[in-house]
Amino acid sequence: MEKENIAIVGGGISGLSVAKCLNNDFRVKVFEKDSRPGGLVKCDRINGNLYHKVGGHVFNSRRQDVLDWFWQFFNRDIEFSKAVRNSSIYMPDGKYIAYPIENHIYMMEEPVIKSIISDILSIVKNECPEPANLEEFLYYRFGDTLYKYYFQPYNEKIWRKDLKKVPLSWLGGKLPMPTPEEIIYNNFNHVKEMNMVHSTFFYPKNNGSQFLADRLAGGTDIAYNIGITLMERTNNVWLINGEAFDKLIFCGNVKDLPRIIKGIDISSFTSSVEALEYHGTTSVLCEIDENPFNWVYLPNRNYLAHRVICTGNFAKSNSVGKKLTATIEFTDYISEEDIDKQLQQIPFTPKHLAHSYTQYTYPIQNEDTREMLGRLKELVLKDNLYLLGRFAEWEYYNMDAAMGAAIDLSKQIRQMLLSN
Ligand SMILES: Cc1cc2nc3c(=O)[nH]c(=O)nc-3n(C[C@H](O)[C@H](O)[C@H](O)COP(=O)(O)OP(=O)(O)OC[C@H]3O[C@@H](n4cnc5c(N)ncnc54)[C@H](O)[C@@H]3O)c2cc1C
Repeated sequence: MEKENIAIVGGGISGLSVAKCLNNDFRVKVFEKDSRPGGLVKCDRINGNLYHKVGGHVFNSRRQDVLDWFWQFFNRDIEFSKAVRNSSIYMPDGKYIAYPIENHIYMMEEPVIKSIISDILSIVKNECPEPANLEEFLYYRFGDTLYKYYFQPYNEKIWRKDLKKVPLSWLGGKLPMPTPEEIIYNNFNHVKEMNMVHSTFFYPKNNGSQFLADRLAGGTDIAYNIGITLMERTNNVWLINGEAFDKLIFCGNVKDLPRIIKGIDISSFTSSVEALEYHGTTSVLCEIDENPFNWVYLPNRNYLAHRVICTGNFAKSNSVGKKLTATIEFTDYISEEDIDKQLQQIPFTPKHLAHSYTQYTYPIQNEDTREMLGRLKELVLKDNLYLLGRFAEWEYYNMDAAMGAAIDLSKQIRQMLLSN
C-alpha cells in the first residue's frame, strides 16, 4: 500500500521533531520559509563567536520518553557537555545573590533577612487564598519583601505589564513552587537549586542549538526558502506549494491561519486569533568581562535588559576571542541607539557585536486561549489539519515540551492510520 503523505509547514524544533517521528510510516515533506532549519533556536557566527539569535537554548527534560527519543539522534558523551546551572541575580545595589533567590536569603542584608522571615511566618500562619494571577501567586508564595525586592521588578521587565494581568494558567512547571518549609530548609542547608527543568542541562560542544536543529533536520525532505502563503483544502487533499498531501501539520503562527487557509471555513476564529497577545525579544551579542555564571538576572528598573545569558560559558567553542561572549536580552523592540545607551548601565562592561529583533518569542495566554484554540484544533482536525508548536498552539513550550507535543501528535496520527 502506498504511504500517505504529510506536509509540515515550519522547520523549527516542532516541525523537525514531528517529521522525524513520522518519517518511517509516511512520506513527509517540510516547508520552511528560511534558508535553514531551527526557527527560534537558530544561531549565527559573528567574528567566529556563536550568536544565539534568541535566548541561549540549553536542553533537558522531565519527560523520560522525550529524553529517550532525543538521545537516539545524538551522542551525549561525545557531542554534549552536562552542566549544573550557576546563575546569579545582580541587585540594584551592585550585589550578586545566587539564583534562585528564595534559597539564598542568607546572602542578604540583616534587615531584609528579618523582614523575609517575618513574611514567611505570616504565610505559615495565615492560609492564603488561591492565586488568580502572577502577582498574587508570587506575593502569596514569597511574601511582601521578596516580591518587592526581586519578583515584581524582574517579572515586570519580562512581561512589560501589570502582573495582575498575567494569568497563571500557562506557566505550569515554569514557576518556582517551594513551600515555606522548603525555603527555610534550603537556606539552613545552603541547598542551591530546586528541581527545575534546567537546573542541570545539556549543551552541544559545537554550534549551540543550531547543531540540534541541523541534526534533527537530517534525513528529512525539507524545502527551504518556501514561505507558505496558501494552504488549500480541495477534493479531500491539501494543496501546498502545488503538491497534494493527505494530511497537513501546521507549525507556523496561528495568527497567519485565517489569511492563508482556503477551502475550510475558520472565519469564526479570526478575531480571537488576531487578538492573541505576544512579546518579541531583542537579543544583543556582546563581549563581556569574565564571570563564572550561565545566566545573570537583572531586576534593576533603571534599564530595560532583563538577563545576560553568558553563552561563552556554555561551550569553549562559543567565544573565539580573548573575551567571553554573551547575549543580553530585552523584551520587545529596542533601537540600536537605545541598546548602546542601555549597555552602559549593565554589569560586565558589555561591548556590542550584533543584535537582532524577533517579533514572536513569547506567546501570552489569557483565561480563554486554551479553550478557544482547543475548539479551533477540533474543527480543523476534521480536515486532517493539525496545529503543533509554540506559536501554532500559543503554548509556552520549551524545546523538550515542543518535542513531547510532536511525539504525542505522531502517536495520535499513527493510531488513526491503524484504525482506518
Ligand atoms: C528567549 C527564549 C529562550 C529560550 N530558551 C530555551 C532553552 O534554553 N531551552 C529550551 O528548551 N527552550 C527554550 N526556548 C523555547 C524554544 O525556543 C521553543 O520551544 C522552540 O524553539 C519552539 O519551536 P517551534 O518549532 O514550535 O517554533 P519556531 O521555532 O517558532 O518555529 C516555527 C518555524 O516555522 C517557520 N514558518 C512559520 N511560518 C511559516 C510559513 N508560512 N511557511 C514556512 N515556514 C514557516 C519559521 O520560519 C520557523 O522556522 C526559549 C525561547 C525563547 C523565546
